[in-house]
Amino acid sequence: MTVVLPTAPALEGRSLVSFDGASNRGAARLAADVVVVGSGPAGAAVARTAARGGASVLVVEEGPFVEPSAFPPDSFSAFASMYRDMGASVLLGRAPMPFVQGRVVGGTSVVNGAISWRLPEDVHARWIEADPALDETLSWDAIVRATDEVERDLHIAPTDPAIAGPKNLLMAKGADALGLEHRPIFRNVHDCRGLGRCLQGCPIGRKMSMDRTYLPDAVLHGARIACSTRIDRVLVAHGRAIGVVGRTAGGGRFEANARHAVVLAASAVQSPRLLLASGIAGGPVGEGFQCHPGVSVTGRFGEPIRAWEGATQGHEVIGLRKEGLKFEALGFGSAMVAARIKGVGSDLSRGLETMAHSLSWGAAVRAEARGRVGRWTVRFDLTRDDVSRFRRGVRVLGELMLAAGAIEVTPGIARWHERVTDRATMSRLEDEAPLDPRAYAAVVTHMFGTCRMGSHPERSVVRPDFRHHGLEGLYVADSSVFPSNTGVNPQTAILALATLAGRRILSGS
Ligand SMILES: Cc1cc2nc3c(=O)[nH]c(=O)nc-3n(C[C@H](O)[C@H](O)[C@H](O)COP(=O)(O)OP(=O)(O)OC[C@H]3O[C@@H](n4cnc5c(N)ncnc54)[C@H](O)[C@@H]3O)c2cc1C
Ligand code: SF4
Repeated sequence: MTVVLPTAPALEGRSLVSFDGASNRGAARLAADVVVVGSGPAGAAVARTAARGGASVLVVEEGPFVEPSAFPPDSFSAFASMYRDMGASVLLGRAPMPFVQGRVVGGTSVVNGAISWRLPEDVHARWIEADPALDETLSWDAIVRATDEVERDLHIAPTDPAIAGPKNLLMAKGADALGLEHRPIFRNVHDCRGLGRCLQGCPIGRKMSMDRTYLPDAVLHGARIACSTRIDRVLVAHGRAIGVVGRTAGGGRFEANARHAVVLAASAVQSPRLLLASGIAGGPVGEGFQCHPGVSVTGRFGEPIRAWEGATQGHEVIGLRKEGLKFEALGFGSAMVAARIKGVGSDLSRGLETMAHSLSWGAAVRAEARGRVGRWTVRFDLTRDDVSRFRRGVRVLGELMLAAGAIEVTPGIARWHERVTDRATMSRLEDEAPLDPRAYAAVVTHMFGTCRMGSHPERSVVRPDFRHHGLEGLYVADSSVFPSNTGVNPQTAILALATLAGRRILSGS
């Protein structure tokens, strides 16, 4: 396959960042046509599109810049250096749930699983049905074209079975046995060696994350990147966003003036927070938070699996997507696999001895519940139907594992069987396991809907062209603007929509 993008090596030794807040203690003031807050998929796609279109662009990122060779091999060091709150941010509610975000140049793309899904057409159709004005910017044709470009640029292709490893291939075996539709996961990688370290950052630069692709391309087209610099609020004058202000990690005041546009691309949790912190109300800012909580199941096999090897996440079961369930092989580092082993004393030592025989698979659940992002907290409570989806997801995962040859399965549900060894018991899970959200250990990694796009200023925060309803010069470009969750991994859809946002910003509408 030909390399289309001039990726990081094309910078020929130049650093990707031109301003490092870690070493800046004094006041700094920069200016650009377009100032983008956040360097994840949304910010990188806007920056690249605007820079290629001739605008001067400044990207401001709170996290540090880390070279692939410095990505830590173990999960806990990666959490400490490249994840927000060390990966321990929490959604508050009846059953608190961790939510996970990257905080590094390239955003969460640096530490994610590289799974790529196009925006499903049925999800898009619902958006347009609910608000036909969205079709003006987000027509299906425009999204398809933008997604085609993303797929080409990021080398998106199905996982090569040669580097999949047993944890992925066994999922295919289980799904065949149950008659469920499945496939190798499409991933944004190039010449992946199956080292299984995507969630710590690919140490050999084979994941096509933003620090390796869109950001270097933006820089080659004149964009500048400021890292280790947190933006605290948007500057407003005469009814217009004119820049942003914040602090460098070194402790200095940082200000960036925007001649044309301020673009919030700080994620579906951090972008609404910036609006709230800036006193920019208008519309349901922070409301309508949606997500895909993930539940997982661990299985022990007779033969060694070494789940930390092989493509991090290389296989998925997609036959129940319309029920709001999608199943993925998970790839944790060995430290995380060890940390997930249950029990104490002899149970724990048996678990550690047989660690190489264990693997975990997860179900991403399209939850219908809507929560709220506030300045300091995010509140979210699952509905009863969402918890039913958890139960169904765990049951299917358990059955998949047993069908793939697992000796025993740990469903991870409080007040139900700790270990299951037969399909008959597993098939009773949906009738017997509690419908109490506190009985499940879920983690959230996909978030949406907190600055919804729409035609009505009372019911949405940005217009159908990504512009804020009430403040000129201000745009939001990340999955905050999605009218709903999507039921699939969101990065490719975020990249496609943010590319369209970048074009709108260039055209000045
Ligand atoms: C562990 C994990 C695995 C995942 N795997 C996949 C996957 O395989 N496929 C998939 O499609 N999706 C996956 N996702 C989700 C996907 O990575 C995100 O949906 C996507 O990265 C969101 O893009 P974004 O640009 O909106 O936000 P982010 O990627 O989160 O980027 C936002 C950036 O803005 C910065 N920022 C925030 N606030 C400020 C501020 N005030 N000032 C300056 N900078 C700020 C942040 O530090 C961050 O770097 C995964 C997520 C996680 C956590
Ligand atoms: S599986 Fe390994 S080699 Fe492949 S992209 Fe992820 S970290 Fe890199």
